[in-house]
Amino acid sequence: MHIWRINTRTQTLSREPVPETWERLGGRGLIARILLDTVPPTCDPLGPRNTLIFAPGLLVGHMLSSCDRISIGGKSPLTGGVKEANAGGRTGLALTHLGVKALLIEDRPDKPGWWVLHLSAEGARFDPADDLTGLGVYESAARLWERYSHGDRRDDALAIALIGPGGEMRLRAAGVQNLDKDRVPSRIAARGGLGAVMGSKGLKAIVIDPADGEKPPIADLEAFRAAQKAFNRALQDHPQTHTYHDYGTAAMTLMCNHFGGLPTRNFSSGQFEGAEKISGEHMRETLLARGGVSETTHACMRGCLIQCSNVFGSAQDEVIVSPLEYETIGLMGANLGIDDLDAIARLNRAVNDLGLDSIEIGAALGVAAEAGLWEFGDGEAALRLLEEIRRGTPLGRILGNGAVTTGRVFGVERVPAVKGQAISAYDPRAIKGTGVTYATSPQGADHTAGLTIRAKVDHTDPKGQAKLSFKAQVNMAGYDTLGACLFAGFGFAAAPETIRDLLNARYGWDVGDDILQALGRETIRLEREFNRRAGFTPADDRLPEWMTREPLPPTNAVFDVPAEDLDNTFRDL
Ligand code: SF4
Repeated sequence: MHIWRINTRTQTLSREPVPETWERLGGRGLIARILLDTVPPTCDPLGPRNTLIFAPGLLVGHMLSSCDRISIGGKSPLTGGVKEANAGGRTGLALTHLGVKALLIEDRPDKPGWWVLHLSAEGARFDPADDLTGLGVYESAARLWERYSHGDRRDDALAIALIGPGGEMRLRAAGVQNLDKDRVPSRIAARGGLGAVMGSKGLKAIVIDPADGEKPPIADLEAFRAAQKAFNRALQDHPQTHTYHDYGTAAMTLMCNHFGGLPTRNFSSGQFEGAEKISGEHMRETLLARGGVSETTHACMRGCLIQCSNVFGSAQDEVIVSPLEYETIGLMGANLGIDDLDAIARLNRAVNDLGLDSIEIGAALGVAAEAGLWEFGDGEAALRLLEEIRRGTPLGRILGNGAVTTGRVFGVERVPAVKGQAISAYDPRAIKGTGVTYATSPQGADHTAGLTIRAKVDHTDPKGQAKLSFKAQVNMAGYDTLGACLFAGFGFAAAPETIRDLLNARYGWDVGDDILQALGRETIRLEREFNRRAGFTPADDRLPEWMTREPLPPTNAVFDVPAEDLDNTFRDL
């Protein structure tokens, strides 16, 4: 494996050996290491000194179930700190088959213009992409496929990562979309504005063609296969695997509503009267009744046994969006007072097409409704606001820069964000462990950094939540470093020795039982150090002040985890 370093100004590639201190990291952990080693923490995130990094996790490359995720990172234009966002789809697998340990996209073009970066076994080249300027993600991906596919089996491995108009406009809610296994460009590394970083490098898309590449080597194939078998068995035997297979992440809607933590009308309530209508159960019934193009279960990558995704088709049997996930249902449904899955799916498609983060945009629209720019519940009005973003109007650019910018411009106090990044679909006043994660994660508010909702605790009791969050954050940072989907964690939690065995078999290492936590701790240490050097202090590890005094109906909870607990969350790191 090599480090592929691309200079976007000189349009050159250099393939370099992997530095020793980078070898035992992948995905999120490797991104943190690379940022600390090579990117000035105080640099302008959209300037030439920031680097956009693609790093497959340590287990990526062999179609292990749910373990081929790609981590994308850099200094975040949204938070000003370290950023890693990961996605399923094809990108991770394709990069490893080209022997890429990490792809570093550096510098900035000194002339205007848009480019496709094409990577193959022959190296890298830049193709003009001005004809794609302003096009949405779906149309761009279709044209890119037309241009770069072979028309034969080699296309099974062809991957494309691209930005939409949001990234071109360098909006801070812009992400990087990736093709899923069925070539749908909806696997977004959504959070933190990495699409804007890609836009700042003049890249509309990266095409990764591993046609003449090969799988990364395995030190002990027999041991690897044995560990894979044990992991698959543990995953298939886990009850949550079946829940996620049948209902997907949307199963969270009623659970979160039950706990009083479903963000409703700009986080002014934790229960939504329309929760049933936007639940995973209702979605499953609807999709089964519609049949045709609709699918209740679907995999984002080849080899996934869980298949938590779906294809949401309309009553007229046309695909609206794939997938429709809980976070979008929460932020663009309940949070906007919208109780119609078709309307939410259409909003989701529009946001995907713009290449934007549905959490950040859902939160921004909630703030905008509170400011009186539109009425909660009016899906058509929300779509019109997304059109403002597409047209690049001043209002559209305000919304596209996220919830904090929207709140500042329109004078709204109730802005759900930490370190500049919008809170996801678990209100931290009702799910306090996740609130600690939002507050203290170096990534800014992000449920995937350490979700605690499944713990058997009183989620409104402030006691013990920091410990709970710490454990979840360390585990998640470990999974993100492996390239494992959050839900692969069901199998790994049931058979933790398989992580050790898989890594030892693949790399010829001799790691111990605590490898997941060791990777997680190392990752968070590096991230916190980057943020410290970027100017973050403990004062940044706080939820918005209004959440500490505004009771959340119906539990009437406020966020009251003591500041001391927040400051000590990582004491044992
Ligand atoms: S469980 Fe869902 S998100 Fe995870 S890899 Fe499978 S389909 Fe993708």
